[in-house]
Amino acid sequence: MIEVVDITRTYQIGESSVNALNGVSLRIEQGEFVAIMGASGSGKSSLMHILGLLDVPDTGEYRLMGKLVSGMSEDELASIRNNVAGFVFQQFHLLTRMSTIDNVMLPCIYSGERGDFRKAALDRLETVGLGHRSGHRPNQMSGGEQQRVAIARALIRDPMIIFADEPTGNLDTKNSHEIMRILTDLHAKGKTIIMVTHEPDIAEYASRVITMKDGKLLEDRRKSTAAAPVKLPEGDLLTVGPTLLQPSRMLGFVVQAFQSIVSNKIRTLLSVLGILVGVASVIAMMALGNGAKASMEEQLKSMGSNLLSLRGGSAKIGGAAQGTGTVTRFTEKDAEALAELAPLVRRVSGDVTGSGQMVYMDKNWSSGVEGVDFDYGDMRAAVPSVGRWFTRQEILGREKVAILGTTVVTKLFGDANPLDRIVKINRINFRVIGIAPAKGFNGPRDQDDIALIPVTTAMYRVLGKNYLDGIFVEVSNAENIEPAKKAIDALIRKRHKVQPKDEDSFNIRDMTQFQQMLSSTTQTMSMLLGSIAAISLVVGGIGIMNIMLVSVTERTKEIGLRKAIGARKADIMLQFLIESVGMTLSGGIIGVLVGVGVSVILSTFAGWAVKTSVFSVVLATGFSVLIGLFFGLWPAQKAAGLKPVEALRYE
Ligand code: ADP
Ligand code: MG
Repeated sequence: MIEVVDITRTYQIGESSVNALNGVSLRIEQGEFVAIMGASGSGKSSLMHILGLLDVPDTGEYRLMGKLVSGMSEDELASIRNNVAGFVFQQFHLLTRMSTIDNVMLPCIYSGERGDFRKAALDRLETVGLGHRSGHRPNQMSGGEQQRVAIARALIRDPMIIFADEPTGNLDTKNSHEIMRILTDLHAKGKTIIMVTHEPDIAEYASRVITMKDGKLLEDRRKSTAAAPVKLPEGDLLTVGPTLLQPSRMLGFVVQAFQSIVSNKIRTLLSVLGILVGVASVIAMMALGNGAKASMEEQLKSMGSNLLSLRGGSAKIGGAAQGTGTVTRFTEKDAEALAELAPLVRRVSGDVTGSGQMVYMDKNWSSGVEGVDFDYGDMRAAVPSVGRWFTRQEILGREKVAILGTTVVTKLFGDANPLDRIVKINRINFRVIGIAPAKGFNGPRDQDDIALIPVTTAMYRVLGKNYLDGIFVEVSNAENIEPAKKAIDALIRKRHKVQPKDEDSFNIRDMTQFQQMLSSTTQTMSMLLGSIAAISLVVGGIGIMNIMLVSVTERTKEIGLRKAIGARKADIMLQFLIESVGMTLSGGIIGVLVGVGVSVILSTFAGWAVKTSVFSVVLATGFSVLIGLFFGLWPAQKAAGLKPVEALRYE
């Protein structure tokens, strides 16, 4: 069943080379119990590794069950190891972070098969007399017990052959004989056993003893010819297992990754801190940005679109007339003339402002009074949703009707309905016809603390002015703003005969400039915060890569063991990738929670406008997965590329 012909194996250490095997030919039949003996360094382990498909010979042929295995790919060998071989090592190679039963089950996740692995594992543990210790950790057990667990693990896939390299090397005499009794029992049940040892009394358990010296067979002694012929199980044992992405396999990997992450809680937490901070700042940043944008849009809407505002005086001092310069005073005729600039100009509304003392029954309130024209309502989104806007008739007729802002309504009426009530504004009776839509604050100014009245009424009855304080002009579309500004400027200069020395006697303010400035400020802000988040995510990713590299080095032996029991390259790779993604993802999820928490705190305590979006959560989570994949790839590849024997030997 095992047949090697003239195999050699040479190790290269720098300049020098060691001939560990020097032309070994050997046949081992099904059901034999072979002990390989010899002095230390005689090549026993090298031979056994080749027989167990953990290593490949440099030259020579190896047939297993009649099939040539020299020249098979690494993955094919892994799959055969999983199906037909069970390994027992001197150092046990149990994974300490898992329970005994999980250790025994380990080869099953690489088999791609389904079944009650737990039951099978318990059954094997009972075979080695440890059924009652299934929940214990390997480090809670004695050496002899650990080796029995390792034997149970070697048996879980019902292998044809058991390879044992100095299985009693680390044990005392009593435990050694215990282990040998178990192996003898297995032999009696038909297993082929190939065991390396340098202790003669241990070798006595075998039915055939091979002695090696300097990489050659020295002696081959059969104690009895009575190796009972054993029937091979049906089916081709050497077929390669099923593909990787099976749900059962994946679930196994996820559980393994979880165990590994949990066994290093503090380290994991520290290494995902970068990701955590990055994700939290992405979430908080986008919540702030969205909040600012939403409240800005709200403000811009209340401001009106494509709006120009004409004011008398210099623009430099907030539009208010100051100093000694001449101030242009606009009239209703100017407004009419501007309206004739159509189609450049869509709508025009004159505007006067002042303050008014308002009285309703015993309530008294002083606020702003604004006289406006008919089109003002649509231009500045001021048409009431409760009540109605002024009619053209009311404006022409200087009628005493008012639309109140919500602050004024609350101050004067409380919860009562103000419609059709009579309020006094500067001792003149006005009928309330509507409530202006709430606009909130613009900086420190409460835009709802206002009473709108017809511009004519305001000028001639309430404020006693015969001029307009300003004119609002709505340009037909955004492209026309510049031409419209030029046309308006020329028109006003002509109508008012403005001299060059009176350059500053009026100004045209572009409200869209203000909008653009606002949006570009928030854009700069979010870009700044965004790059901070990006940098912290990259730094976090490098942290992950670092910790994964450390983890790969630290777990070299574990990787070797996993490969020995049948893990393929891709299995190891997947395991480490799942681990790194698991880390970044959990960092990302905590980051999302922290980010949302920070946003909530900012909005509750600092009163900032925030708006957490589902998009930002999905983005941040997706990003942390990508970072896990990207920065985990190299360490995972490094792990997957390890040779099983070298990894097992690693100190
Ligand atoms: P044994 O198991 O009989 O003690 P080994 O098969 O482990 O012997 O080793 C045989 C020889 O090959 C020894 O001289 C050992 O130093 C050398 N050797 C084994 N493995 C390696 C390796 N990975 N690199 C270099 N030399 C090795
Ligand atoms: Mg050895």
